[in-house]
Amino acid sequence: MRLTQAASTDPLTGLANRRGFEGRLHAMLEHDRSRAGCLAVFDIDHFKSVNDRFGHDAGDAVIVAFAELAQSITRPGDLVARLGGEEFGILLADMTGAEARALCDHLRQTLSETKVPTSSGEVRITVSAGLVDLRDAVDASTAFRAADAALYRAKADGRDRLRLAA
Ligand code: GH3
Ligand code: MG
Ligand code: MG
Repeated sequence: MRLTQAASTDPLTGLANRRGFEGRLHAMLEHDRSRAGCLAVFDIDHFKSVNDRFGHDAGDAVIVAFAELAQSITRPGDLVARLGGEEFGILLADMTGAEARALCDHLRQTLSETKVPTSSGEVRITVSAGLVDLRDAVDASTAFRAADAALYRAKADGRDRLRLAA
């Protein structure tokens, strides 16, 4: 059981990893679709410059800080996962697009107002996010692609913002 747990957990943050996230996403899509909820993908803005200016350990501290904030803002039945690098996925169970949008924007805004303490001083960061309503999704990979495309638009539109899948 511990091996299964380790295989779906990210060691830096203790969050689910991509594998754990995909397992849960597939399960959500198999059950009552009308109550599936929403999928959000978050990516920290200009993260390379955090590593460049403050060092890799400070970068790690920023990743952990985002993970903690995301968990404190979501509900116990939601799932926050580290998909890789400085990219996170959030599954918001049984939430409408409007509710999910409000929660994600609250997370984005709170992060933008947070000074993350690191061994190299306080670091300020922002995130961009793409959001998709799973009721509209054909399958898991389509949902991911739609959220990624929305995230890409959020980046292109200037970062520190949220975009909804078309
Ligand atoms: P953008 O606003 O377009 O997202 O810019 P970005 O700089 O965040 O771009 P990108 O996603 O390409 O950069 C991600 C960087 O994250 C590259 C890699 O060096 C760094 N990184 C990935 N994993 C880790 C990690 O575990 N710790 C730290 N400190 N850095 C990581
Ligand atoms: Mg980034
Ligand atoms: Mg990235």
